[in-house]
Amino acid sequence: NYSYPLQIRRNDEIGQLSESFNLMQTQLQHNDLARKSFISNVSHDFQSPLMNIQGYADLLKSPDLSDSDRMAYTSIIDQEAKRLSSLTRQLLLLTSLDQGAYPMKHTTVKLDEQLKRVVQKYRWRLEEEDINISYNLPPTSIQGDVELLENVWENLLTNAIKYNKPGGSIEISLKSTDAGVDVAFKDSGIGIAREAIEQLFERFYRVDSSRKTDGTGLGLSIVQQIVTLHHGTINVESIIGEGSEFTLHFPHTVSKR
Ligand code: ADP
Repeated sequence: NYSYPLQIRRNDEIGQLSESFNLMQTQLQHNDLARKSFISNVSHDFQSPLMNIQGYADLLKSPDLSDSDRMAYTSIIDQEAKRLSSLTRQLLLLTSLDQGAYPMKHTTVKLDEQLKRVVQKYRWRLEEEDINISYNLPPTSIQGDVELLENVWENLLTNAIKYNKPGGSIEISLKSTDAGVDVAFKDSGIGIAREAIEQLFERFYRVDSSRKTDGTGLGLSIVQQIVTLHHGTINVESIIGEGSEFTLHFPHTVSKR
């Protein structure tokens, strides 16, 4: 628990000191809230696949089970285990990026090919949610870590799917300019309020946790960390109810044609 803000109104160093003290206090409270909701999100994210695995493993013990049921239950268990493993991977990745411990391996990454591969991986989900995807991907390369960059595209694509509408669309485009390379993900989804955009990349932040239950608010903070490691920047444009566009810019120091 925190003490109350200092009520010192003075125009000297003491006044300034109490002002920064109050600011720090607000920040701490904010972090504390974020941490609590993060723990509850992560626990939920672990809990629900674990319950499913347990439940279906129990059902598998039943002696009079048809082959098709057995197959169906096994595949659910498999899916849920994969979900758990991807969540653990994200948490581990964030920790190692945080500690500067991630072993970056720089190579020439063909972005057009990589982006197409990532889309391919999520084809089934796009079809399931009836989302139309289009892209404009001329051959473009940058210097970077293949795995980290793949993580960025996966996060942006899965967000564009998760926060889209059924029958919606996604456009992915690549552009080389004099300044470097731009990669844009545009969706026709629910959009993000202007006030929320500022906090989007904060760790644990979720615009409105009731909008979607799956998610930890970690994805975009990982994206931000990785883009920064590649000396890039991120710009977000969004209109509520119409959609969002995330544009990543990589300067020429890392991009080459
Ligand atoms: P999460 O695990 O919640 O998806 P992220 O860090 O990836 O976490 O995103 C943070 C929040 O930003 C999300 O909870 C969501 O509300 C919002 N968001 C991210 N991408 C989009 C998007 N393309 N359209 C609308 N909202 C988005």
